[in-house]
Amino acid sequence: MTAILPGATIGVLGSGQLGRMFAIAARELGYRIHIYSPEDDSPAGQIGDKEFSFAYEDLDRIREFACDVRVVTFEFENVPAASTAAAAEFAPVRPDGQVLHTTQNRLREKAFLAKHGFPVTPFRSVNSLGELQAATKELGLPAVLKTAAFGYDGKGQVKLRDAAQLPDAFAALRGAEGIYEAFVDFEKEVSVVAAHTLTGEFSAFPVFENAHANHILDVTFAPAEISAKLAKEAADLAAGILEKLNVVGLLTVEMFVTRDGRLLVNELAPRTHNSGHLTIDAAVTSQFEQQVRAVCGLPLGSTELRQPAAMANLLGHLWERGEPNWAGALEDPAVKLHLYGKREARIGRKMGHLTATAATTDEAVRKVREARDRLITR
Ligand code: AMP
Repeated sequence: MTAILPGATIGVLGSGQLGRMFAIAARELGYRIHIYSPEDDSPAGQIGDKEFSFAYEDLDRIREFACDVRVVTFEFENVPAASTAAAAEFAPVRPDGQVLHTTQNRLREKAFLAKHGFPVTPFRSVNSLGELQAATKELGLPAVLKTAAFGYDGKGQVKLRDAAQLPDAFAALRGAEGIYEAFVDFEKEVSVVAAHTLTGEFSAFPVFENAHANHILDVTFAPAEISAKLAKEAADLAAGILEKLNVVGLLTVEMFVTRDGRLLVNELAPRTHNSGHLTIDAAVTSQFEQQVRAVCGLPLGSTELRQPAAMANLLGHLWERGEPNWAGALEDPAVKLHLYGKREARIGRKMGHLTATAATTDEAVRKVREARDRLITR
Protein backbone atom coordinates (compact mmCIF):
# COMPACT_ATOMS: atom_id res chain seq x y z
CA MET A 1 0.00 0.00 0.00
CA THR A 2 1.28 3.43 -0.78
CA ALA A 3 0.96 5.72 2.18
CA ILE A 4 -1.05 8.91 1.98
CA LEU A 5 1.64 11.39 2.86
CA PRO A 6 1.57 14.77 4.64
CA GLY A 7 0.35 17.49 2.32
CA ALA A 8 -2.60 15.32 1.21
CA THR A 9 -6.15 16.11 2.27
CA ILE A 10 -8.07 13.93 4.72
CA GLY A 11 -11.88 14.04 4.86
CA VAL A 12 -13.77 13.63 8.12
CA LEU A 13 -17.46 12.74 8.43
CA GLY A 14 -18.74 14.35 11.63
CA SER A 15 -17.67 17.61 13.19
CA GLY A 16 -17.67 17.33 17.00
CA GLN A 17 -14.79 17.39 19.45
CA LEU A 18 -13.34 14.09 18.22
CA GLY A 19 -13.10 15.57 14.73
CA ARG A 20 -11.63 18.77 16.13
CA MET A 21 -8.82 17.03 17.99
CA PHE A 22 -8.24 14.78 14.96
CA ALA A 23 -7.98 17.87 12.72
CA ILE A 24 -5.47 19.49 15.10
CA ALA A 25 -3.32 16.32 15.06
CA ALA A 26 -3.57 16.03 11.26
CA ARG A 27 -2.56 19.65 10.80
CA GLU A 28 0.46 19.15 13.06
CA LEU A 29 1.52 16.37 10.71
CA GLY A 30 1.07 18.68 7.72
CA TYR A 31 -2.18 17.32 6.27
CA ARG A 32 -5.11 19.33 5.04
CA ILE A 33 -8.53 18.60 6.48
CA HIS A 34 -12.05 18.77 5.06
CA ILE A 35 -14.98 18.36 7.46
CA TYR A 36 -18.48 17.20 6.50
CA SER A 37 -21.53 17.43 8.78
CA PRO A 38 -24.92 19.17 8.91
CA GLU A 39 -23.48 21.82 11.29
CA ASP A 40 -21.59 24.99 10.53
CA ASP A 41 -18.91 26.72 12.56
CA SER A 42 -18.59 23.31 14.21
CA PRO A 43 -15.83 22.28 16.66
CA ALA A 44 -13.99 20.48 13.83
CA GLY A 45 -14.97 22.95 11.11
CA GLN A 46 -13.23 25.74 13.06
CA ILE A 47 -9.93 23.85 12.61
CA GLY A 48 -10.38 22.32 9.15
CA ASP A 49 -9.39 23.91 5.84
CA LYS A 50 -12.90 23.48 4.46
CA GLU A 51 -16.26 22.81 6.08
CA PHE A 52 -19.11 21.15 4.14
CA SER A 53 -22.39 21.88 5.93
CA PHE A 54 -24.93 19.53 4.35
CA ALA A 55 -27.11 16.62 5.40
CA TYR A 56 -25.46 13.19 5.51
CA GLU A 57 -28.28 12.01 3.22
CA ASP A 58 -27.26 14.47 0.47
CA LEU A 59 -25.28 11.95 -1.58
CA ASP A 60 -24.28 14.42 -4.32
CA ARG A 61 -22.63 16.67 -1.71
CA ILE A 62 -21.00 13.63 -0.10
CA ARG A 63 -19.53 12.70 -3.50
CA GLU A 64 -18.32 16.26 -4.05
CA PHE A 65 -16.64 16.15 -0.62
CA ALA A 66 -15.03 12.74 -1.25
CA CYS A 67 -13.73 13.80 -4.70
CA ASP A 68 -11.33 16.28 -3.16
CA VAL A 69 -9.76 14.07 -0.46
CA ARG A 70 -7.37 11.09 -0.47
CA VAL A 71 -9.05 9.21 2.38
CA VAL A 72 -12.26 9.56 4.37
CA THR A 73 -12.53 8.75 8.06
CA PHE A 74 -15.18 9.62 10.60
CA GLU A 75 -15.66 10.74 14.16
CA PHE A 76 -19.39 10.06 14.31
CA GLU A 77 -20.48 6.53 13.49
CA ASN A 78 -24.17 7.05 12.85
CA VAL A 79 -23.59 8.10 9.27
CA PRO A 80 -26.02 6.35 6.87
CA ALA A 81 -24.56 3.36 5.00
CA ALA A 82 -25.53 4.96 1.67
CA SER A 83 -23.39 8.01 2.51
CA THR A 84 -20.24 6.05 3.25
CA ALA A 85 -20.89 3.97 0.11
CA ALA A 86 -21.17 7.19 -1.95
CA ALA A 87 -17.92 8.51 -0.41
CA ALA A 88 -16.21 5.18 -1.12
CA GLU A 89 -16.79 5.67 -4.88
CA PHE A 90 -14.09 8.36 -4.75
CA ALA A 91 -11.82 7.68 -1.77
CA PRO A 92 -11.17 4.81 0.63
CA VAL A 93 -13.31 5.04 3.79
CA ARG A 94 -11.37 3.89 6.87
CA PRO A 95 -12.63 2.04 8.84
CA ASP A 96 -14.90 0.83 6.00
CA GLY A 97 -18.68 0.70 5.70
CA GLN A 98 -18.79 -2.92 6.88
CA VAL A 99 -17.20 -1.99 10.24
CA LEU A 100 -19.63 0.89 10.53
CA HIS A 101 -22.59 -1.36 9.75
CA THR A 102 -21.63 -3.82 12.49
CA THR A 103 -20.95 -1.21 15.15
CA GLN A 104 -23.95 1.05 14.43
CA ASN A 105 -26.33 -1.45 15.94
CA ARG A 106 -25.90 -3.04 19.36
CA LEU A 107 -27.58 -6.29 18.29
CA ARG A 108 -25.39 -6.74 15.23
CA GLU A 109 -22.33 -5.81 17.29
CA LYS A 110 -23.06 -8.25 20.14
CA ALA A 111 -24.03 -11.00 17.67
CA PHE A 112 -20.71 -10.48 15.86
CA LEU A 113 -18.78 -10.62 19.13
CA ALA A 114 -20.61 -13.71 20.42
CA LYS A 115 -20.22 -15.51 17.09
CA HIS A 116 -16.46 -15.09 17.21
CA GLY A 117 -16.19 -16.18 20.83
CA PHE A 118 -15.54 -12.75 22.39
CA PRO A 119 -17.09 -12.47 25.88
CA VAL A 120 -20.34 -10.47 26.17
CA THR A 121 -23.19 -10.42 28.66
CA PRO A 122 -26.14 -12.62 27.54
CA PHE A 123 -28.56 -10.64 25.35
CA ARG A 124 -31.77 -10.97 23.33
CA SER A 125 -33.41 -8.90 20.63
CA VAL A 126 -36.73 -7.31 21.61
CA ASN A 127 -39.38 -6.43 19.03
CA SER A 128 -42.54 -7.03 21.06
CA LEU A 129 -43.73 -7.06 24.66
CA GLY A 130 -43.91 -10.86 24.37
CA GLU A 131 -40.21 -11.02 23.41
CA LEU A 132 -39.37 -8.74 26.32
CA GLN A 133 -41.26 -10.99 28.74
CA ALA A 134 -39.57 -14.08 27.30
CA ALA A 135 -36.13 -12.44 27.63
CA THR A 136 -36.88 -11.69 31.28
CA LYS A 137 -37.71 -15.35 31.88
CA GLU A 138 -34.64 -16.64 30.05
CA LEU A 139 -32.01 -14.18 31.24
CA GLY A 140 -33.56 -12.99 34.53
CA LEU A 141 -33.61 -9.60 36.23
CA PRO A 142 -32.07 -7.13 36.78
CA ALA A 143 -31.32 -6.25 33.17
CA VAL A 144 -30.76 -3.26 30.91
CA LEU A 145 -33.07 -2.56 27.96
CA LYS A 146 -31.47 -0.39 25.27
CA THR A 147 -32.45 0.74 21.81
CA ALA A 148 -30.41 -1.27 19.34
CA ALA A 149 -29.49 1.77 17.24
CA PHE A 150 -28.62 5.43 17.84
CA GLY A 151 -27.93 5.19 21.58
CA TYR A 152 -25.05 6.88 23.34
CA ASP A 153 -24.24 8.22 26.81
CA GLY A 154 -27.03 6.11 28.31
CA LYS A 155 -29.67 7.68 26.05
CA GLY A 156 -32.44 5.24 25.15
CA GLN A 157 -31.72 2.80 27.96
CA VAL A 158 -33.46 1.76 31.14
CA LYS A 159 -32.55 -0.55 34.01
CA LEU A 160 -35.19 -3.20 34.66
CA ARG A 161 -35.58 -4.43 38.24
CA ASP A 162 -38.98 -6.12 38.24
CA ALA A 163 -41.60 -7.41 35.83
CA ALA A 164 -44.02 -4.57 36.59
CA GLN A 165 -41.72 -2.22 34.64
CA LEU A 166 -41.92 -4.18 31.38
CA PRO A 167 -44.92 -2.51 29.66
CA ASP A 168 -43.59 1.02 30.26
CA ALA A 169 -40.06 0.03 29.27
CA PHE A 170 -41.32 -1.55 26.07
CA ALA A 171 -43.46 1.52 25.28
CA ALA A 172 -40.38 3.75 25.77
CA LEU A 173 -38.72 1.99 22.81
CA ARG A 174 -41.42 3.70 20.67
CA GLY A 175 -41.40 0.94 18.10
CA ALA A 176 -37.60 0.85 17.76
CA GLU A 177 -35.80 -2.47 18.01
CA GLY A 178 -34.51 -3.17 21.52
CA ILE A 179 -31.71 -5.21 23.04
CA TYR A 180 -32.19 -6.85 26.41
CA GLU A 181 -28.91 -7.32 28.27
CA ALA A 182 -28.39 -9.25 31.49
CA PHE A 183 -27.20 -6.73 34.08
CA VAL A 184 -23.48 -6.91 34.79
CA ASP A 185 -22.62 -6.31 38.43
CA PHE A 186 -19.23 -4.99 37.44
CA GLU A 187 -16.29 -3.98 39.61
CA LYS A 188 -15.08 -1.36 37.16
CA GLU A 189 -15.28 -0.19 33.58
CA VAL A 190 -12.23 -0.01 31.35
CA SER A 191 -11.54 0.71 27.70
CA VAL A 192 -8.87 -0.09 25.16
CA VAL A 193 -8.25 2.24 22.24
CA ALA A 194 -6.40 0.35 19.54
CA ALA A 195 -5.21 0.83 15.98
CA HIS A 196 -4.87 -1.63 13.12
CA THR A 197 -3.42 -0.86 9.69
CA LEU A 198 -3.87 -2.26 6.19
CA THR A 199 -0.57 -4.12 6.57
CA GLY A 200 -1.72 -5.76 9.82
CA GLU A 201 0.21 -3.61 12.26
CA PHE A 202 -1.59 -3.45 15.63
CA SER A 203 -1.05 -1.15 18.58
CA ALA A 204 -3.09 -0.52 21.74
CA PHE A 205 -2.88 2.24 24.32
CA PRO A 206 -2.52 1.22 27.97
CA VAL A 207 -5.89 0.28 29.48
CA PHE A 208 -7.99 3.26 30.62
CA GLU A 209 -10.20 3.08 33.72
CA ASN A 210 -13.48 4.97 33.48
CA ALA A 211 -15.91 6.37 36.03
CA HIS A 212 -19.34 7.53 34.84
CA ALA A 213 -21.82 9.99 36.35
CA ASN A 214 -25.44 9.92 35.08
CA HIS A 215 -24.35 7.48 32.33
CA ILE A 216 -21.85 9.99 30.93
CA LEU A 217 -18.10 9.50 31.21
CA ASP A 218 -16.89 11.65 34.09
CA VAL A 219 -13.27 10.80 34.87
CA THR A 220 -10.73 8.51 33.16
CA PHE A 221 -7.31 7.60 34.46
CA ALA A 222 -4.45 5.55 33.09
CA PRO A 223 -2.96 3.11 33.56
CA ALA A 224 -6.05 1.28 34.90
CA GLU A 225 -5.75 -0.27 38.34
CA ILE A 226 -5.90 -3.86 37.17
CA SER A 227 -3.35 -6.68 37.23
CA ALA A 228 -0.75 -6.89 34.47
CA LYS A 229 -2.37 -10.21 33.47
CA LEU A 230 -5.81 -8.64 33.03
CA ALA A 231 -4.31 -5.66 31.15
CA LYS A 232 -2.71 -8.10 28.72
CA GLU A 233 -6.00 -9.97 28.36
CA ALA A 234 -7.75 -6.68 27.56
CA ALA A 235 -5.16 -5.78 24.90
CA ASP A 236 -5.31 -9.30 23.40
CA LEU A 237 -9.10 -9.12 23.30
CA ALA A 238 -8.92 -5.79 21.47
CA ALA A 239 -6.34 -7.19 19.02
CA GLY A 240 -8.61 -10.14 18.25
CA ILE A 241 -11.63 -7.90 17.66
CA LEU A 242 -9.79 -5.43 15.41
CA GLU A 243 -8.46 -8.29 13.34
CA LYS A 244 -11.77 -10.14 13.02
CA LEU A 245 -13.65 -6.91 12.20
CA ASN A 246 -10.93 -6.02 9.73
CA VAL A 247 -10.55 -2.48 11.06
CA VAL A 248 -8.26 -0.08 9.24
CA GLY A 249 -8.06 2.82 11.64
CA LEU A 250 -9.02 2.97 15.29
CA LEU A 251 -11.45 0.97 17.36
CA THR A 252 -12.35 1.49 21.00
CA VAL A 253 -13.43 -1.51 23.04
CA GLU A 254 -15.40 -0.66 26.20
CA MET A 255 -15.30 -3.48 28.72
CA PHE A 256 -16.61 -4.40 32.15
CA VAL A 257 -14.33 -6.03 34.72
CA THR A 258 -16.60 -8.40 36.63
CA ARG A 259 -16.27 -8.97 40.37
CA ASP A 260 -14.70 -12.36 39.67
CA GLY A 261 -12.04 -10.76 37.47
CA ARG A 262 -13.36 -11.51 33.96
CA LEU A 263 -13.64 -9.11 31.05
CA LEU A 264 -16.93 -8.63 29.17
CA VAL A 265 -17.13 -6.42 26.10
CA ASN A 266 -19.85 -3.76 26.50
CA GLU A 267 -19.54 -1.71 23.35
CA LEU A 268 -17.36 -0.99 20.33
CA ALA A 269 -16.74 2.40 18.74
CA PRO A 270 -14.92 2.49 15.38
CA ARG A 271 -13.02 5.68 16.24
CA THR A 272 -11.21 7.62 18.93
CA HIS A 273 -12.94 7.80 22.29
CA ASN A 274 -13.57 10.20 25.14
CA SER A 275 -11.56 7.92 27.46
CA GLY A 276 -8.51 8.39 25.21
CA HIS A 277 -8.32 12.17 25.49
CA LEU A 278 -5.60 12.00 28.13
CA THR A 279 -3.24 10.60 25.48
CA ILE A 280 -2.87 14.13 24.07
CA ASP A 281 -0.99 15.28 27.15
CA ALA A 282 0.30 12.00 28.57
CA ALA A 283 1.28 9.62 25.74
CA VAL A 284 4.10 9.73 23.21
CA THR A 285 1.45 9.58 20.46
CA SER A 286 -2.10 10.84 20.96
CA GLN A 287 -5.09 8.73 19.92
CA PHE A 288 -5.82 11.37 17.26
CA GLU A 289 -2.33 11.23 15.76
CA GLN A 290 -2.64 7.43 15.81
CA GLN A 291 -5.89 7.67 13.85
CA VAL A 292 -4.16 9.89 11.26
CA ARG A 293 -1.27 7.43 10.97
CA ALA A 294 -3.55 4.38 10.76
CA VAL A 295 -5.90 5.75 8.09
CA CYS A 296 -3.03 7.22 6.04
CA GLY A 297 -0.94 4.04 6.12
CA LEU A 298 1.96 5.52 8.09
CA PRO A 299 3.78 3.46 10.74
CA LEU A 300 1.94 3.62 14.09
CA GLY A 301 3.37 5.73 16.92
CA SER A 302 4.39 4.65 20.41
CA THR A 303 1.42 4.39 22.79
CA GLU A 304 3.64 4.59 25.85
CA LEU A 305 2.42 6.88 28.64
CA ARG A 306 5.01 9.40 29.71
CA GLN A 307 3.37 9.66 33.14
CA PRO A 308 0.21 8.47 34.89
CA ALA A 309 -2.65 10.77 33.93
CA ALA A 310 -6.31 11.58 34.56
CA MET A 311 -8.95 13.37 32.50
CA ALA A 312 -12.14 15.05 33.73
CA ASN A 313 -14.94 15.97 31.35
CA LEU A 314 -16.35 19.49 31.44
CA LEU A 315 -20.10 19.34 30.88
CA GLY A 316 -22.49 22.19 30.18
CA HIS A 317 -23.79 22.58 33.74
CA LEU A 318 -20.43 24.13 34.71
CA TRP A 319 -21.55 27.23 32.78
CA GLU A 320 -24.80 27.60 34.75
CA ARG A 321 -23.52 30.46 36.88
CA GLY A 322 -21.56 32.14 34.08
CA GLU A 323 -18.19 31.56 32.48
CA PRO A 324 -16.14 29.02 34.48
CA ASN A 325 -13.03 30.22 36.30
CA TRP A 326 -10.37 29.08 33.81
CA ALA A 327 -7.48 30.73 35.62
CA GLY A 328 -8.57 28.94 38.80
CA ALA A 329 -8.41 25.53 37.14
CA LEU A 330 -4.99 26.28 35.66
CA GLU A 331 -3.42 27.34 38.98
CA ASP A 332 -1.91 23.86 39.08
CA PRO A 333 0.75 23.82 36.33
CA ALA A 334 0.26 20.05 35.84
CA VAL A 335 -3.29 20.70 34.57
CA LYS A 336 -4.08 21.23 30.89
CA LEU A 337 -7.29 22.71 29.48
CA HIS A 338 -9.01 21.62 26.25
CA LEU A 339 -12.14 23.45 25.06
CA TYR A 340 -14.12 22.40 22.01
CA GLY A 341 -15.31 25.74 20.65
CA LYS A 342 -19.03 25.02 21.20
CA ARG A 343 -21.06 28.19 21.26
CA GLU A 344 -23.83 27.04 23.56
CA ALA A 345 -23.41 25.23 26.89
CA ARG A 346 -26.28 22.82 27.53
CA ILE A 347 -26.75 20.45 30.47
CA GLY A 348 -24.96 17.18 29.73
CA ARG A 349 -23.16 18.59 26.66
CA LYS A 350 -19.43 17.84 26.46
CA MET A 351 -17.80 21.28 26.28
CA GLY A 352 -14.19 20.41 27.02
CA HIS A 353 -11.92 18.45 29.34
CA LEU A 354 -9.04 18.85 31.76
CA THR A 355 -6.03 16.55 31.98
CA ALA A 356 -3.56 16.23 34.83
CA THR A 357 -0.34 14.24 34.87
CA ALA A 358 1.40 13.20 38.11
CA ALA A 359 3.70 10.62 39.67
CA THR A 360 0.74 8.31 40.48
CA THR A 361 -2.76 7.84 39.07
CA ASP A 362 -4.26 8.71 42.48
CA GLU A 363 -2.48 12.04 42.46
CA ALA A 364 -3.48 12.74 38.86
CA VAL A 365 -7.14 12.01 39.66
CA ARG A 366 -6.99 14.25 42.74
CA LYS A 367 -5.40 17.09 40.75
CA VAL A 368 -7.87 16.93 37.88
CA ARG A 369 -10.91 16.77 40.19
CA GLU A 370 -9.64 19.67 42.28
CA ALA A 371 -8.96 21.71 39.14
CA ARG A 372 -12.51 21.07 37.93
CA ASP A 373 -13.91 22.07 41.33
CA ARG A 374 -11.99 25.35 41.12
CA LEU A 375 -13.84 26.18 37.89
CA ILE A 376 -16.97 27.00 39.85
CA THR A 377 -15.47 28.50 43.00
CA ARG A 378 -14.54 32.11 42.78
P1 AMP B 1 -23.58 2.01 26.90
O1 AMP B 1 -24.38 3.08 26.24
O2 AMP B 1 -23.92 0.62 26.43
O3 AMP B 1 -22.11 2.27 26.87
O4 AMP B 1 -24.00 2.07 28.46
C1 AMP B 1 -23.73 3.20 29.26
C2 AMP B 1 -23.39 2.76 30.67
O5 AMP B 1 -24.49 2.02 31.26
C3 AMP B 1 -22.22 1.80 30.73
O6 AMP B 1 -21.00 2.50 30.72
C4 AMP B 1 -22.49 1.11 32.06
O7 AMP B 1 -22.11 1.92 33.14
C5 AMP B 1 -24.00 0.96 32.07
N1 AMP B 1 -24.40 -0.33 31.46
C6 AMP B 1 -24.64 -0.56 30.16
N2 AMP B 1 -24.95 -1.85 29.93
C7 AMP B 1 -24.91 -2.48 31.12
C8 AMP B 1 -25.16 -3.84 31.55
N3 AMP B 1 -25.51 -4.82 30.70
N4 AMP B 1 -25.01 -4.10 32.87
C9 AMP B 1 -24.66 -3.12 33.75
N5 AMP B 1 -24.44 -1.83 33.40
C10 AMP B 1 -24.56 -1.50 32.12
